[in-house]
Amino acid sequence: MVTLIDRTPGVSETVRPRHPEKAAKPDTPRLAKPAWLRVRAGGSKAYAETHTIVKENGLHTVCQEAGCPNIGECWEKRHATMMIMGAICTRACAFCNVATGLPHALDAAEPQRVADAVARLGLEHVVVTSVDRDDLADGGARHFAETITAIRRAHPSATIEVLTPDFLRKEGALEIVIEARPDVFNHNLETVPGLYPRIRPGARYFHSLRLLQRAKELDPEVFTKSGIMVGLGETRDEVLQELDDMRSANVDFLTIGQYLQPTLKHAEVKRYVEPAEFDDLKTIGKAKGFLLVASSPLTRSSYHAGDDFVQLREARRAQLRSA
Ligand code: SF4
Repeated sequence: MVTLIDRTPGVSETVRPRHPEKAAKPDTPRLAKPAWLRVRAGGSKAYAETHTIVKENGLHTVCQEAGCPNIGECWEKRHATMMIMGAICTRACAFCNVATGLPHALDAAEPQRVADAVARLGLEHVVVTSVDRDDLADGGARHFAETITAIRRAHPSATIEVLTPDFLRKEGALEIVIEARPDVFNHNLETVPGLYPRIRPGARYFHSLRLLQRAKELDPEVFTKSGIMVGLGETRDEVLQELDDMRSANVDFLTIGQYLQPTLKHAEVKRYVEPAEFDDLKTIGKAKGFLLVASSPLTRSSYHAGDDFVQLREARRAQLRSA
């Protein structure tokens, strides 16, 4: 089989492979997709407007960079998830389609451009994520904080969710982000600890878990959220243990979605999890005490994030009323 290496014009001055570190790896097998993963393509007027606003503001979105299957649906609703600090990541996770390499310097005007785009899109709930920036002393925490502040100024009614890197070995970074008072602090554990060396080699499971727990300790009012992908070879027992770990860290909102393989150089899909199994995990997650669980084949961290935030707030109110 011939493998085409996906190339990314615009990632740097010259066209470069998105994943130079994966180029020499053997191809992984590709499982045929089941019918329940088919999605509709975007092409509506609202989709085009979202695209225009993102482009005119010179922004990156994880929707595009990760090749998210939901882009047709989300952009039709003008829901784009902003990816700050460039489009080049310092990590090289085996599941992720974001380009790997040495990033460019931070763009000090980016927080304001994100804020302008949020106001133009009229988002009531915005999700801001980023590439990993291990090259920066604070891991990009201050840039996150400046982006939160700029959005609050430009569009005060919007609620703000940040989906951050793990800030591994970045002392004080989490505190900077939490001080900016996001409504939701999200950090994805991505997979079970046993698969970290293969799937998320630059990260440490218990560090990520502790990051979530510490976010809640720093601000008990912030909603904490984390997600995992299934279909990477994890066992059911490992998943259930991870859910317990998250509850021990006081995570409020759990997302579970099917892993999809971006290219033949990425980790293979070991199996497609049936929709009924996602429903089952949702029931178990609720029983374990999460305020909210989103679990379906196409669930992603930011999928339906606005509607979910409304539910999350209501679930907390209900919990407080019954306490
Ligand atoms: S699910 Fe998230 S990343 Fe995917 S298209 Fe929707 S907003 Fe973008």
